[in-house]
Amino acid sequence: MSADGKRPQVLILGGGFAGVGAAQKLKDTDAEVVLVDRHDYHTFQPLLYQLATGLLETTAVGHSLRDLLEGQKNTTIHKATVTGIDLDTHEVHFDELEPMTYDYLVIGLGAQVNFFGTAGADEHAFPMYTLPHAVRLKDHLLERWEAADRDPSLVDDGALNVVVVGGGPTGVETAGAVAELYRAAFAKDYPALPQDEARVILVEAGPELFSMFKPKLREYAAKALADRTVEVMTGTAVASVSPNRVTLKSGDELKAHTLVWGAGLQGNPLVQTLGLDLQRGNRLGVGPDLTLPGHPEVYVLGDLAAIVDEETQQVLPQLGSVALQSGEHAGETIARRIAGKDAKPFKYHDKGTMAMIGRGAAVVQMLGGRTMKGRKAMVAWGTVHLALLPTNEDRAKAVVDWAGSALTHQRVGRITVGSE
Ligand SMILES: Cc1cc2nc3c(=O)[nH]c(=O)nc-3n(C[C@H](O)[C@H](O)[C@H](O)COP(=O)(O)OP(=O)(O)OC[C@H]3O[C@@H](n4cnc5c(N)ncnc54)[C@H](O)[C@@H]3O)c2cc1C
Repeated sequence: MSADGKRPQVLILGGGFAGVGAAQKLKDTDAEVVLVDRHDYHTFQPLLYQLATGLLETTAVGHSLRDLLEGQKNTTIHKATVTGIDLDTHEVHFDELEPMTYDYLVIGLGAQVNFFGTAGADEHAFPMYTLPHAVRLKDHLLERWEAADRDPSLVDDGALNVVVVGGGPTGVETAGAVAELYRAAFAKDYPALPQDEARVILVEAGPELFSMFKPKLREYAAKALADRTVEVMTGTAVASVSPNRVTLKSGDELKAHTLVWGAGLQGNPLVQTLGLDLQRGNRLGVGPDLTLPGHPEVYVLGDLAAIVDEETQQVLPQLGSVALQSGEHAGETIARRIAGKDAKPFKYHDKGTMAMIGRGAAVVQMLGGRTMKGRKAMVAWGTVHLALLPTNEDRAKAVVDWAGSALTHQRVGRITVGSE
């Protein structure tokens, strides 16, 4: 009980891996738990590229928050946008909801795209960080192929070309998946259009792709991309983008009606209003128990937190498994504190950093340095991602879609459902 005799109020901001992980661990706690997200669904970001390329459908990537927390009698969910956090008065403000106070605050508001000031990117780039982003990219690709089908002269203007920015996992996965969509599904769907004139170009500003992986995994990824007809340009940065052209810093121009942005993240801009020192990428530094220094009642988690791993002393990467484990730890710790028990420091159990380049081609690297590639890595990728999926039904759905696509090369989701 809090000082006024009421049950403690736990306010969770964000229904991502971190927020949902925390809420689920508070299920049996004697507390009032409120989770607020601007959407009524949880987004499974690692599979966004599969939605954007028609491999999975929307409901395999976005999951109802009310379903995920169904049966938690102490938990209320609201769909509202957080507009401000007052750490001194313990009050949070929202757009269409009365302000709320808290005894414990869990901040899991995630990260968002960073265009690094690239001219035209805000208006014309296709970022890959939310469900609407993935659906918008899929609809746009389908729309360009349909347009070229009606008017083949558009092919010369680069209507079918896709430039993907970013040589990290998001960019590589997206480029590989777009190439497979083109060469397998669209080759059959649009036999009159010239596949060899539909280019997929991956642009990376640094000297190589996958800088976070060991050299042998980088070499493997470069070959796997080349096998899938992805053209890779390293040491090349994008200067500006318009609806049908991408201009590089070198001054060269690429004809392309699609530029996918998978190059940068920054912590949710709300953290800039807290008046605290921010770390690289707009992240908040936290202590070993994941609380904000000077605020033992405030937990900051997932992509928004700079969590230092107790073993390696490195800041943990922005990964689903880090977000989920940090959320679960915060939920368990708050439950322990409410029950009058001690808090324990957070310990991350490494699931590896991994990326899927295409069918049968993936890479995995563990914190200790162990690596895997090819089909073995693909199985590891599938296992880790199935474990992250929130329900058994979602796991079953993903397995059926993946197996179906592996056997038939079909992409079930390649239809556009716009408004009439
Ligand atoms: C394209 C892509 C691919 C990825 N692939 C992998 C992968 O293969 N493996 C892996 O482990 N990780 C992967 N990641 C990283 C992983 O998805 C993130 O690390 C993880 O989602 C972070 O979880 P989170 O809970 O911190 O934030 P999020 O999952 O981003 O959740 C934040 C939540 O806060 C809500 N929110 C934000 N602002 C507000 C506001 N003002 N008011 C109310 N609600 C708000 C959002 O709607 C969202 O639901 C990928 C990420 C991306 C973008």
